[in-house]
Amino acid sequence: MSSERSTSDASLGSRGQDAAGMPIPRIDPSREFPRRFVPPSADAGRWDEVEPLGEALLRGSPDSPEGLMRCLENASELAAWVAEEGARRYIAMTSQTDDPERERVYLSFVREIGPRWKALAHRLDRAYLENPHRRALPPEYRVFDRRIENRVTLYRDENLPLQVTETELGQQYEKLRGAMTVVFRGQEYTLEQLGPFLEDPDRSVREEAWVLIAERLRRDRDEMEGLFDRLRELRLRIARNAGFASYRDYAWRARERFDYTPEDCRRFHEAVEARFVPLLVQVAAERRRLLGVETFRPWDVEVDPLGRPPLPTFERTDDLLDRREAVFGRVHPELAGLFRFMRDQGLLDVERRKGKAPGGYQQTLHERRWPFIFLNVAPSHDVSTILHEGGHAFHALAAREQPLLAYRSAPLEFAEVASMGMELLSARHLDAIYPRAEDARRALRTSLDDLLVPKGMPWIATIDAFQHWLYTHPEHTPAQRREAWVGIYRRFNPALDWSGHEDVLAYSWHRQLHLFLLPFYYIEYGVAQLGALQIWRRAASDYAGAVARYRSALVLGGSRPLPELFEAVGARLAFDEDTMAPLAGALAYAVAQLPYR
Ligand SMILES: [Zn+2]
Repeated sequence: MSSERSTSDASLGSRGQDAAGMPIPRIDPSREFPRRFVPPSADAGRWDEVEPLGEALLRGSPDSPEGLMRCLENASELAAWVAEEGARRYIAMTSQTDDPERERVYLSFVREIGPRWKALAHRLDRAYLENPHRRALPPEYRVFDRRIENRVTLYRDENLPLQVTETELGQQYEKLRGAMTVVFRGQEYTLEQLGPFLEDPDRSVREEAWVLIAERLRRDRDEMEGLFDRLRELRLRIARNAGFASYRDYAWRARERFDYTPEDCRRFHEAVEARFVPLLVQVAAERRRLLGVETFRPWDVEVDPLGRPPLPTFERTDDLLDRREAVFGRVHPELAGLFRFMRDQGLLDVERRKGKAPGGYQQTLHERRWPFIFLNVAPSHDVSTILHEGGHAFHALAAREQPLLAYRSAPLEFAEVASMGMELLSARHLDAIYPRAEDARRALRTSLDDLLVPKGMPWIATIDAFQHWLYTHPEHTPAQRREAWVGIYRRFNPALDWSGHEDVLAYSWHRQLHLFLLPFYYIEYGVAQLGALQIWRRAASDYAGAVARYRSALVLGGSRPLPELFEAVGARLAFDEDTMAPLAGALAYAVAQLPYR
């Protein structure tokens, strides 16, 4: 944890000049932020050490704007300290799931510190709102101020137990899904493990695996329907308790959507339908032709249209990371340096080993102000996942000088601009990963196809439009819900032939976890993709300029409203066809330049 590699103090905070002439503060990952409020030996895992610090802040009642700012920084320090303790325990648990002691240590934090900390944080929020000097704070506090005000306005004691029930019902969904296994050719698989068979060049293998998955999902159909109905009813109650007639309006505020409206989302759906869906239809037709099949079926989506084996993967961790570092370095030398720093400090856990939890995430160690990347995905997803999580990690490092914890991370709509933007900015450098030109080309084409299928813009519009329907028709019956889903699905995904499997389609929304666990969360990916595509489009004619804006916007963290963050990166926060048309056009052009063969 030492930072001997630190540069001289003289360079701290110095502003470099980028190739494109933009002033960008240099990111110093090793600069330390010594505690000023929390005692050096305090233990964030003990409530009797956390609580007195919170109470001291509450007693402080600052009597000037300057005093209030100091108090907010102390509260930030306290919150970052507690958050880092939770993050470290979570990382320890996921890196060794077969060690019950690690799980116990993490869960004891979740149970003993979590709820108490939430209650204390709410009291700190209220104390802030009641402080008369809040109105005299400098303008850079306005984003913070509106968040706290919103949070306190929505808070209701009577919703706490309902939210616990909501979480428990969500866990039931995950349990149901986790328990779904099928026997395929004599061996038992989870539905996720069947994934590679959906990419099999042999169409009958794909169909067999797909049908097995559909049949397994059918067995829990009624339970899933019942679970969703209970969640819906619960959510309506939560909204009404907080004074909202509609759950959608409540969710809008709870998700801190200050800068766009449901009407904007409707425009987004229309623009996707007009601009991206035709492109999806065209790509599907091309793939169908190459596959030599009559119609494009649900089991034809994932396969390589030329029947090639998967792209090469990298078994040696160092090899994988060296190649990644080279890609980041080609985007900008500073990024390679930051990635190297993370490697040296042990902030990357990407090796495959027994007992490691599946998946990938980026966690921030908030007190140290360092990102941590955890990765355990299928080898074929290594490349895109590291580029994506790398974008999040650079964001965390770039924003580390922000004094408020709340500003050291961005709203989701912009956090994903950092990660999706990084994926698109690195796409042209994939030859640093795949030495064979043909492989690099293919990886690039795949990254463009991912913007369309299977979870690209049309899918984002599908899920979002469905969520709007669900909660603007609160009294719907399950039959009406199926009809609405199928209508919305066909609107954005007209290329697939489901004949003979219409009832599978009618319930296929059961597989989308967000609908059960994270209501209304999904459009964020679409908003971010619009930002990332605008960066990518600029990069085609002015790469250095696009990268410079990207880096300078990351430094802002979450300190500005969403439209200003978009502006900083050189993009417009807009959902209409005028914004989307040139992006879809650029994508169509890029796809045409990269035929499958
Ligand atoms: Zn992400």
